[in-house]
Amino acid sequence: VLGATNLSKSFNLTAALRGATLSISEGEIAAIVGPSGSGKSTLMHCLAGILTPDSGEVLFRGRRVDDLSETKRTQLRRDQYGFVFQYSQLVEELTARENIALPLVLRGKSRRRALMEADRWLQRLGIDSCSERRPSQLSGGQGQRVAVARAMISRPAVVFADEPTGSLDTAAGELVLSLLIESARRHKAAILLVTHDQTVAARADRVINVQDGIVEDRVMGRPL
Ligand code: ATP
Ligand code: MG
Repeated sequence: VLGATNLSKSFNLTAALRGATLSISEGEIAAIVGPSGSGKSTLMHCLAGILTPDSGEVLFRGRRVDDLSETKRTQLRRDQYGFVFQYSQLVEELTARENIALPLVLRGKSRRRALMEADRWLQRLGIDSCSERRPSQLSGGQGQRVAVARAMISRPAVVFADEPTGSLDTAAGELVLSLLIESARRHKAAILLVTHDQTVAARADRVINVQDGIVEDRVMGRPL
């Protein structure tokens, strides 16, 4: 569903990516691992159209997307991708429920219908008691569950998750990750999951190793 060939990206004198090639199938859960500074986040940002690679191509559903206009790329992110970051990056002015509903409102759904769908996600992820709270009134794990719901509510084809459990303790992290994987499996969303955690990586369909801006792809043969 998403692929890249020969991606390169430099920041000043630092070559963050040096010819990275990979592809992700529909519904596939891929863990991206590698040392700090190896280019994992840069790779995700290029794939998601947040950064423009210096060279190479990014294809979504067989169509080139790295050369689209900024407006078209924003549209693609909103319509086809979901994002979960290390810190939930929720909108502080909105309640948990409104944060979850936001992507649907941005896509033109009525507020009422978006909030109803948000309620379903609050329940599904076990955070309905947090519905009316602001992000600052949530625990780390609750915040990340809200972030998962917000990423999944628009039924994305691909979810980009950069260290989504990095700021959580083991138990909270496990729960958030299970919910993310479960939701993605249910909706056949592919996940690109950056993680330092070996047990997390072991739950993926595939582990993609990034070393010095180069991708080393290998099949785990251990589906969830
Ligand atoms: P971490 O595990 O610490 O998150 P990472 O694998 O995600 O690391 P990247 O953030 O992709 O690594 O960074 C790859 C290289 O590019 C690093 O050397 C980093 O310093 C550099 N880099 C990344 N973003 C920028 C930027 N905006 N400006 C300058 N250099 C950058
Ligand atoms: Mg990173």
